[in-house]
Amino acid sequence: MSVTCDVIVIGAGINGLSAAALLAKSGKRVIVLESNETPGGAIRTEEVTLPGFKHDLFAMNLGLFAGGPVMAALGEDLARHGFALVPSSRPFASVFPDGTMIGVQTNAAATRESLELVAPEDVASWDRLGARLGEIAPFLIGFLGSEMPSWGAVRTAWKTHRALGTDGVYDLIKLSLSSTRAFADENFTSPKTKALLASWGMHLDFAPDISGGALFSYLETLGGQMFGMVIGQGGASSLVSALVAVIEENGGEVRCNARVDQILIDRGRASGVRTLNGDQVLSTTVVSNVNPSLMPAMLPADEAARPEVARAENFRPGLATMMIHLALDSLPDWRAGDAREFNYVHIGPYLDDMARAYTDAAAGFLPERPTLVVGQPTVSDPSRAPEGKHVLWVQVRVLPLEIADGSTWDEVAEIYADRVIDIIDEYAPGIRAKILGRAVLSPADLQRYNANLIGGDSLGGSHHPAQFFFLRPVPGWGRHRAPIKGLYLCGASTWPGGGVGGTSGALVAKTLGA
Ligand SMILES: Cc1cc2nc3c(=O)[nH]c(=O)nc-3n(C[C@H](O)[C@H](O)[C@H](O)COP(=O)(O)OP(=O)(O)OC[C@H]3O[C@@H](n4cnc5c(N)ncnc54)[C@H](O)[C@@H]3O)c2cc1C
Repeated sequence: MSVTCDVIVIGAGINGLSAAALLAKSGKRVIVLESNETPGGAIRTEEVTLPGFKHDLFAMNLGLFAGGPVMAALGEDLARHGFALVPSSRPFASVFPDGTMIGVQTNAAATRESLELVAPEDVASWDRLGARLGEIAPFLIGFLGSEMPSWGAVRTAWKTHRALGTDGVYDLIKLSLSSTRAFADENFTSPKTKALLASWGMHLDFAPDISGGALFSYLETLGGQMFGMVIGQGGASSLVSALVAVIEENGGEVRCNARVDQILIDRGRASGVRTLNGDQVLSTTVVSNVNPSLMPAMLPADEAARPEVARAENFRPGLATMMIHLALDSLPDWRAGDAREFNYVHIGPYLDDMARAYTDAAAGFLPERPTLVVGQPTVSDPSRAPEGKHVLWVQVRVLPLEIADGSTWDEVAEIYADRVIDIIDEYAPGIRAKILGRAVLSPADLQRYNANLIGGDSLGGSHHPAQFFFLRPVPGWGRHRAPIKGLYLCGASTWPGGGVGGTSGALVAKTLGA
């Protein structure tokens, strides 16, 4: 079977769907081809433990999307199709072995109070960094929303210079290149405040000593106070179904169980795709939401062999992630009692532990004490569980892509999950007795769910500086274009990187006239 359309989108991740929705709304006939049985990629809500307990299997925090260009353009349409955001004024906390915690709230006075209890020496720095973020945020947001490189980015750089002066620009460059540890040492004294910051670097693949980590850690930590956190009411999948509805009501189509195995090329230009079951969809514009390291294998051999195409295979994954989903009888009894009010509770506990976990994982060893992000979505969205009950979203950062002793993730996942629960139990004694159901998704499972998550890398490719900014994903594949006419890219592997933002999809849609 062969059909034609204006734009083909390969992959129904947040960016593929965002591009498709914006293009469909601008009048283009769009067909999205998704290999899975459901759209959404790394966004998927399912009752994986017990009936009535809705778990965001992968992404939960929708802050990037809420503040991004797709929400700005389609917010009303998405709301009409049932997408609603649930805000939280208590986005995250870090808990420590001595039973203390620091909690970040949108109420700056409350955050200050929390800091004063455990790290009074850092309160002034915290306030200074918060005020500074207010000054630089508009420029950073400008960069993150611009094609990279582009005249738009140059204009933002010029505006930044005019507003902040040469020293201010140099400070920003330094921030973008610093490790979290360097930035933390420069600004804070208490190991607890430093850990509060560094936990956010671990959400990406920025262990404390990796250059480039400071920017993300700073933005997320102080940004938490500025913006709070938002999650999707009833689960993040409501965003996916709303985007699909926008595509369909504008004449587009989302076909699932349609894995693309060949991108067709005619005289050096994309001409369509072929799916595994032999269907062809023809168009001279193809947008790929596929990890670029997988794309050479989807191209004719002569195209794939061209050095500028083949280099995409060198795009490196970040380290792996494991997810543990728990159905709970009641919220954890955190030794740091107030932690039960926060959406995320980070367990590092300290910078050196995070650095060690990362080095172990990179060398193929299972970290003895991995960094944990314990998500408590039902604190702000009780609709995700039966009345009085809760779900826990536990993200284990960072883990080996391959285990050095040759064991497989299928063999060790449940045993390792027990170790993780033991660690949580140290901070929230009695957690085991509250568990009504549990589902473990190992790094291998992540890749089974979504081919883009190579080896269980949740990021769609490492974000270290050699693969970021105008170098993402690899030189020659920037500006959301593959080195083949008519073949465009979006997704976590492209600028501005991972997360449920939709920005790369919006940038491609803009390039294509939406
Ligand atoms: C466990 C986990 C937790 C996360 N938590 C958060 C969070 O809380 N907040 C946040 O902002 N981000 C989070 N992220 C990151 C975020 O979810 C991802 O970066 C983002 O969703 C990736 O979107 P994408 O557009 O790159 O597409 P993807 O989600 O990678 O989807 C791509 C789609 O393409 C399909 N596909 C691949 N190859 C083909 C092919 N050949 N033919 C057809 N279809 C194909 C895949 O099946 C998939 O559905 C998390 C990620 C993971 C894995």
